[in-house]
Amino acid sequence: MSPECRLGRLHGPQERAIVQFLDTLSRILPPERLLRDNVSMMAYECDGFPMHRQPPLAVALPRTTAEVQQLVRLCCDHGVTFLGRGAGTGLSGGATPDERPTLVIEMAAMKRILAVEPDDRIAVVEPGVVNLELSRTVQPFGLCYAPDPSSQSACTLGGNASENSGGPHCFKYGMTTDHLIGAKMVLASGELVELNEGEGPDLLGLATGSEGTFGIFTELTVRLLPVPELVRTWLAAFATMGQACRAVSSIVASNIVPAALEVLDHLTIQAVEASVYAAGYPADAAAVLLVELDGTRASVDSDSPLVEQYIAEQQPLSIEGTTDAQQRKRLWQGRKGAFGAMGRLAPDLYVLDGVVPRSRLEPVLQRVVEIGREYDVTLSNVFHAGDGNLHPNISYDGRDPVVCARVKAAGMEILKLCVDEGGSITGEHGVGREKLDHVPLMFTDVDIEVFHDVKRCFDPNELCNPGKAFPSGGACGEGRSARNEGALGAR
Ligand SMILES: Cc1cc2nc3c(=O)[nH]c(=O)nc-3n(C[C@H](O)[C@H](O)[C@H](O)COP(=O)(O)OP(=O)(O)OC[C@H]3O[C@@H](n4cnc5c(N)ncnc54)[C@H](O)[C@@H]3O)c2cc1C
Repeated sequence: MSPECRLGRLHGPQERAIVQFLDTLSRILPPERLLRDNVSMMAYECDGFPMHRQPPLAVALPRTTAEVQQLVRLCCDHGVTFLGRGAGTGLSGGATPDERPTLVIEMAAMKRILAVEPDDRIAVVEPGVVNLELSRTVQPFGLCYAPDPSSQSACTLGGNASENSGGPHCFKYGMTTDHLIGAKMVLASGELVELNEGEGPDLLGLATGSEGTFGIFTELTVRLLPVPELVRTWLAAFATMGQACRAVSSIVASNIVPAALEVLDHLTIQAVEASVYAAGYPADAAAVLLVELDGTRASVDSDSPLVEQYIAEQQPLSIEGTTDAQQRKRLWQGRKGAFGAMGRLAPDLYVLDGVVPRSRLEPVLQRVVEIGREYDVTLSNVFHAGDGNLHPNISYDGRDPVVCARVKAAGMEILKLCVDEGGSITGEHGVGREKLDHVPLMFTDVDIEVFHDVKRCFDPNELCNPGKAFPSGGACGEGRSARNEGALGAR
């Protein structure tokens, strides 16, 4: 739908306000950095969660913090909703426009690495810098940026900060919030604030993972780590998923802290091996486990026999271990390309994101498979096993509304299972638009109202990415109960 058509649904003063808004907008940015036509804006109708689509009013591509401030001030003056967008790889609909006319502020053009300070082990970046690009840039200094979402070749650091993203190596190194030490953020008033680690209450921590609902990040200061002296990666194949899960539990229960513990199931292995990401995973295995140790040569060498022992106890079909950089890259290629490889199974993919206690991985995965059968959907699993962070993936054809309804219902049941097992409805992809109906599984109406109160401290008129992360007040409805009464207090 073109902006003009959308305006057709508005009347009188509303329409006049939007026309005036668009007119002023076109004086802030040159035409090549302001998208208004249908074709250019199509890519902005959704992110990696295609079940919900909404065309934007317009898409702006600022290059400086001052331009972001101008855009946001204009939105504030006209009561127009807006959101920041990185690469659109989010999997929960966080970057999807609201039903009201929404200005998408695309941050991809703000992609400069402003400073690398090897002695202080920090980098200052604009939010549109692609995650992997930062690690590549700092590698000559013997440094790296640890959070590594599997989308790292595309996703931006601004998106990572907004989602508090994780990745395979976050088991050892922690999520984005553990690596962010400062940020500049444009609030919904247009005011620029600086949030720094260790200064007063932890507002930086609060903003990290706020799913783009507090303001627009325009600069980030991140922590860098030394590249480990030695990295050893194993790929173990098992005849059952249970054996893979038990190997994970044994390793985690020991004193070893691996850099990564990742599992892929049979269907995922088949999809990967038939794709351009083929990594030589044994095609007959029910599950493969990737384990990685990193650190000093002495620590990796001393922990390696233990890892091999815990894997051997589960009688793997095969085990391959390597410290060779090329071979390690190959082993990871299948895992990093797993979601892409799913494109071979069906046109659309619903990537679920739930967490369960690690000790419950095996029974929960059994039940997840049963749920897939009950709802007659194609379901595969690839997950951050060390974190108990499941990604059940449902491959489907989004053109069939009956199938879509079954996919959504299966997803709801799987996330309810995670909560019932003592886990959570999201590990790293956020609530976004996707999981608004799931929030009451964990939080009471009072909790949700508190979330709104916190948001209003940053965005009193609720113009910044509204309708994401938590439902509108009272969404729980009477009679719906949260898992924990007063869950906010308990967490
Ligand atoms: C194949 C694949 C693999 C993935 N693997 C992982 C994984 O291992 N771990 C993981 O955590 N996630 C993963 N994801 C999800 C996704 O990549 C992350 O959530 C990522 O951080 C999103 O970054 P983005 O730049 O694409 O943000 P977008 O999708 O553009 O936006 C995400 C959210 O951030 C907000 N936002 C973006 N930029 C800004 C800004 N500058 N200021 C304020 N708000 C902003 C948006 O409004 C939106 O709410 C994966 C996705 C895909 C497609």
